[in-house]
Amino acid sequence: MDFRFSPKEETFRQEIRDWLKGNLPEDWTGDRFTRSDENRNVYRDFAKRLATKNWVAPNWPIEYGGLGLSVIEQLIFNEEMSYANAPIGYSTIGVGWAGPTIIVYGTDQQKKQHLSAITNAETMWCQGFSEPNAGSDLANLATRAVKDGDDYVINGQKIWTSGAHYANWMILIARTDQEAPKHKGISYFLVDMKTPGISTRPLIDMMNNHGFNEVFFENARVPRDCLLGEENRGWYMATTTLDFERSSIGGAVGARKMLEELTEYTRETPVPGNGHRLSDEIPVKVRLADAAIEAELGRLLSYRVAAMQARGLVPNYESSIAKLFNTDMQLRMAKAGMEIMGLYGQLDPKSKWVPLKGRFERQYLWQTGLAVGGGTTEIQKNIIAQRGLGMPRG
Ligand SMILES: Cc1cc2nc3c(=O)[nH]c(=O)nc-3n(C[C@H](O)[C@H](O)[C@H](O)COP(=O)(O)OP(=O)(O)OC[C@H]3O[C@@H](n4cnc5c(N)ncnc54)[C@H](O)[C@@H]3O)c2cc1C
Repeated sequence: MDFRFSPKEETFRQEIRDWLKGNLPEDWTGDRFTRSDENRNVYRDFAKRLATKNWVAPNWPIEYGGLGLSVIEQLIFNEEMSYANAPIGYSTIGVGWAGPTIIVYGTDQQKKQHLSAITNAETMWCQGFSEPNAGSDLANLATRAVKDGDDYVINGQKIWTSGAHYANWMILIARTDQEAPKHKGISYFLVDMKTPGISTRPLIDMMNNHGFNEVFFENARVPRDCLLGEENRGWYMATTTLDFERSSIGGAVGARKMLEELTEYTRETPVPGNGHRLSDEIPVKVRLADAAIEAELGRLLSYRVAAMQARGLVPNYESSIAKLFNTDMQLRMAKAGMEIMGLYGQLDPKSKWVPLKGRFERQYLWQTGLAVGGGTTEIQKNIIAQRGLGMPRG
């Protein structure tokens, strides 16, 4: 087992660090949580800067606008962006989910139309999968796409669609065969969000953000060439998208940054009345030591996923373990921070009394959502039990 990075990889890491010093937006607070028009512009402008380096999707093949980097180089890239709290959300769905699925299943025309627009940060994508009665049981979806001449006519509703109010395109799954068993009558579409008949309605989350939406389709007519792959094979393509979604690697290092910030905070903060600093208090030390162990473990679980991908293997329950552990670990880290900060730790970032710009309170609420998005904790546990331990389906 050799955990060292090669000299070439270390050079790449240093190049990213140097670049970030000059290219993070001026006055950037590291607020990756607020969803506003202003923040959206910051994200888009940062994506445009990345595009000048071909760094929007550095692991994509060169012909599609990437640099053909290895899985390990992509891991390093993700780690450095995460450690710097860089505003990298603009292209997440395009780069992480839509693009890779198009690379596998798209026609030449679809690849030409969409892939370089993603790597040039010209288009933003959203994901129209979940519905009011289809989340964990996604194949239960009811949105219908009916063939009519050279078009499909779409009717139905999606929910929890992140960023739909900004997105130019949507990856959509809809039912094209009402009679077939539920996994076999679904097709996968690439839909222009400006199509007449598509409307969005905001859903405000517990951070008071407008990040999610309901999306309604009322006789929305899309051309036949929006279909990705074969008709009625959409379920299998959607599972490919979800595999890309869950194997996102490198984020665990953000926890190390939080730990460092928190440790520094305890060194600087006096305990009222006894002349100590918070860092002198044994319960605080124990809490931070626990957090350090967990952050390291999270990083190693991510490395395991990356190492498998680098060897050409397809991680499966291993991705679920990493996703589940890292989400829970960051939630516990945020909770530890809020408890160490006392009641101040729960203040809103806008309060002048809030420590560390309110990042721990925001992180706590954010991670609570991440435990659901991309497949809930219970669904990850089902995958680990069935595919990892060979237990029967429930
Ligand atoms: C931050 C965030 C971003 C999201 N972004 C998007 C997006 O952009 N596009 C999109 O399409 N969707 C998105 N979603 C929706 C997300 O994919 C669904 O919320 C998720 O799949 C769960 O579905 P559900 O909400 O319908 O809950 P349900 O599936 O109804 O689950 C309710 C509860 O029952 C449990 N449960 C369900 N089935 C089982 C089972 N078989 N075994 C054990 N327990 C079970 C679940 O774990 C959960 O606790 C997002 C959600 C979040 C939180």
